[in-house]
Amino acid sequence: MTPGVFDIRGRTALVTGSSRGIGLALAGGLVQAGCTVALHARDPQALERAAAGLAPAAGRAGGRVHHVTFDVTDRAAVDAGVAAVEAELGPLDILVNNAGIQHRALLLDFPDDAWQRVIETNLTSAFLVGRAVARGMVERGRGKIVNIGSLQSQLARAGTSAYAASKGGIKMLTRAMCAEWAPSGLQVNAIGPGYFDTELTSALVNDEAFDAWLRQRTPAARWGRPEELVGTLLYLASPAADFVNGQILYVDGGMSAVL
Ligand code: NDP
Repeated sequence: MTPGVFDIRGRTALVTGSSRGIGLALAGGLVQAGCTVALHARDPQALERAAAGLAPAAGRAGGRVHHVTFDVTDRAAVDAGVAAVEAELGPLDILVNNAGIQHRALLLDFPDDAWQRVIETNLTSAFLVGRAVARGMVERGRGKIVNIGSLQSQLARAGTSAYAASKGGIKMLTRAMCAEWAPSGLQVNAIGPGYFDTELTSALVNDEAFDAWLRQRTPAARWGRPEELVGTLLYLASPAADFVNGQILYVDGGMSAVL
């Protein structure tokens, strides 16, 4: 039986970038906890497959799976997409700003358009989707927003400058959202994943030297599995975290704790 303090059955959630990887695992966790979840990405076919995969679990847990397609960097599409989700499912209780991309290049060679794309996709999107969803949450006086940061919200690495800048921005946007929306009853927090095996990191997972470095550098001595982020999200989305605000919680096998 779910202890009341972690009980989020019947809540409605939108998880951006949830056709695969971390977003899909987080959406699956919310579904299993009894939420109705809107999956989201740009590729409609991938979304349909993801939704079909989660539908049986939603049936068992008493929720529903819906899916919506929009580009998080397209301002008009964001507002229309959020409105469409709320028209279909009702007011959103939980938003997970997860959609993100990577572009690896050294600063002196970093293409301007790639810089722009990473910042827009990883950081500006959380402002745009967050603002669209928070309008209703502020009016209702409650809501949970969880932004997906990174170990790189805190630590930089050569070759991923735009990504690190965007994720450092996520940490501060989370605090700014807390400053403005906590008085209206919202909780806004972030999760900072370490290295997880997904499509975003496949180049690194398949790079023997990087893989060896990662296992040596991480106290847990391995890559994370996306499902290992679910418990942290459920905590932050639940009444257990009603007085937790503006924080970033690192889930990284201990990497940020040691040199
Ligand atoms: P994936 O590449 O596996 O998934 C990214 C998701 O975002 C996909 O669903 C993709 O779908 C969607 N997406 C990308 N761009 C857009 C866009 N412009 N508009 C709408 N949707 C978009 O990445 P991960 O699961 O690894 O990463 C998820 C989040 O976790 C990201 O924010 C990432 O930075 C963060 N993270 C990941 C870590 C890791 O080790 N994997 C570590 C730390 C943080 P589509 O392309 O169809 O739009």
